[in-house]
Amino acid sequence: MSKRNPISATVNFDKDGVQHGHLRLPFSRDDSAWGAVMIPITQIKNGDGPTALLTGANHGDEYEGPIALVKFIRRIKADDVKGRVIVVPAMNYPAFQAGRRLSPVDEGNLNRSFPGRPDGTLTEKIADYFSTTLLPMADVVLDLHSGGKSLDFLPFAAIHLHDDADQRERCEAAMQAFGAPYSVYLTELDPDGLYDTEAERQGKTFLTTELGGGGTARPHTIAIAERGVDNLLKHVGILNGEPQSIPLEVLDMTGEENFIIADADGLLEPCVALGDDVCKDDVIARIWRVAHPEEDPVVYTSRVDGLLAARHFSAQVKAGDCVAVIATKD
Ligand code: ZN
Repeated sequence: MSKRNPISATVNFDKDGVQHGHLRLPFSRDDSAWGAVMIPITQIKNGDGPTALLTGANHGDEYEGPIALVKFIRRIKADDVKGRVIVVPAMNYPAFQAGRRLSPVDEGNLNRSFPGRPDGTLTEKIADYFSTTLLPMADVVLDLHSGGKSLDFLPFAAIHLHDDADQRERCEAAMQAFGAPYSVYLTELDPDGLYDTEAERQGKTFLTTELGGGGTARPHTIAIAERGVDNLLKHVGILNGEPQSIPLEVLDMTGEENFIIADADGLLEPCVALGDDVCKDDVIARIWRVAHPEEDPVVYTSRVDGLLAARHFSAQVKAGDCVAVIATKD
C-alpha cells in the first residue's frame, strides 16, 4: 500500500466561500514534541469553474509572490470568482520564515524536491502534498519566483518548450495574458525535481516568473505580480473582465550559450546593467582577485546577441555561480 502524506489541510476544498487555514505538517522537534509546521493556505471558491493554484516563496527569499498573493487574498471576495482559487503564498514556509532559499530544517530546496515523498524529509513531504493533492485539483498553475539573494532578473513570465501542441498553446496564452514586460521561453539547466516539471507532467497549464531578486521586492515588480495574477485569472474566466495587456517583448534563453557561468572565485565587476542590449563578444563581467592585483581579471564575454536578462546579485562569486544570462530577442 502506498504511504499517505501526513499533511492535513484545515480548509475544505469542496466548500464555497473564503477560507483561511493551514496545511498542517507534523514536525516533532526539540521545542515541540507533537508540533507541526503550519503552512498558510487560502481558498476562494464560488460554484463550478476552473481551479487556479497560485504559489509564492517556493524559494523562501523571493518576495514578489508572497506580497502580491497576500494582497490578492485580502482584495478578492468569493462573489468575485467563478470556480476556485487555491493560494499558498509561502510554499516552503520554513525557508520563508528564515528568509532563506532553502529550508533551515533539512536544507531542502523545494524546487528540486519534486515529485517528493510522503515519507521523506520535511521538504519532500511538502513537495509530495503538492504533487498528489493540490496539483491534481488545478487547471492552471502559477508559481511566482524571483532571483532570491543571489540573482537579479528582468521581470519576466516564462514557459518551457512543450512537445504537446495543445499544452504549449495553453501555456503560451497564459504567458501572454499574465502580461509581464518580458515573456521568456526557457530551458532549465537541470529540470529534475522542479515543481514546473511535475505540473507539466500532469498536463497542467503552467506559468512561472522571475520578477526581480536580490532578496528583496520593489514597487514595480510587485505591481507586475499583482497585475499578472489578475490578468491570468481573467484569462481563464475565474475573474470577470479582460486581461489588461501591455506591450511585451519575447525573449529566448533555451540555449547553453545564453548562460555565463563563473570558473573562478572573486569580486564581480558587472559591466552591463539588466536590460542593456548586448552584442556577441561584448564584455559582460570581470572577476577580480583583490588580494592579487598583479593578476589580470577573468573576463566573461557574451556568446550571443541579445540583452542582459539576469545577473549575479551578490558581489562575491565562486566558480560555478551563474554570472549572467544573455537572452536572445525573438
Ligand atoms: Zn525561485
